[in-house]
Amino acid sequence: MTSIKHHPKTETLAAYAAGALDEARAVVIATHLDLCDACRAAARDFEALGGVCLEAAEPAPMKEGALERFWLRAGGARAERAPASTRAANDFDLGLARPLSAYLKGGLDAVQWRRIGPGMEQCVLDAQGYRKGVLRLLKIAPGVRLPKHSHGGEELTLILRGAYEDEIGEFRRGDLADLDDEDTHSPCAIGEEPCVCLIAASAPLRFKGLAGKIVQPFIGL
Ligand SMILES: [Zn+2]
Repeated sequence: MTSIKHHPKTETLAAYAAGALDEARAVVIATHLDLCDACRAAARDFEALGGVCLEAAEPAPMKEGALERFWLRAGGARAERAPASTRAANDFDLGLARPLSAYLKGGLDAVQWRRIGPGMEQCVLDAQGYRKGVLRLLKIAPGVRLPKHSHGGEELTLILRGAYEDEIGEFRRGDLADLDDEDTHSPCAIGEEPCVCLIAASAPLRFKGLAGKIVQPFIGL
């Protein structure tokens, strides 16, 4: 049993199962799935559905050598990305969960944090996304609140350690916030330990107040 309360939207899971997410968002979703039985089952259903659709589709001729090129690329990707895997469990370190471990050498405790503001540190991870720096870890000290902001596009946030609360509710380890450009929030880290999140965002944040707008160029969010 897990105590996860916040999950990806159905359409995000479907896009993940169809392989339609960019690398950054796929890492966030895959890390959530490593912990969340319900979403893992849903993603499997979507994959099965996709298989049925493929079987029903009219066959189309492939270019000569397409299959060889596919295996060449797939083989290369497999060699690069083979992560040292630890099966996630309730008392696990989410930083060692399978998908994320490929991006974190030495786990969450070895992360080189860069201070971006009072009580805020970040580490940009090397993943291909819509734009550079799209996959990042953010660490917020207890009691620190991010200025009120919306999102220029979609944002997936997975809680790895600690917790935060915002206008939507409380988010704890394993919870995933699947936000779009309509959502405005001002998350505040709660509890004793810093809140560490894994974030994939398709566009920079849009801060609401003057203070946030002044701070933005400095913190680079
Ligand atoms: Zn879930």
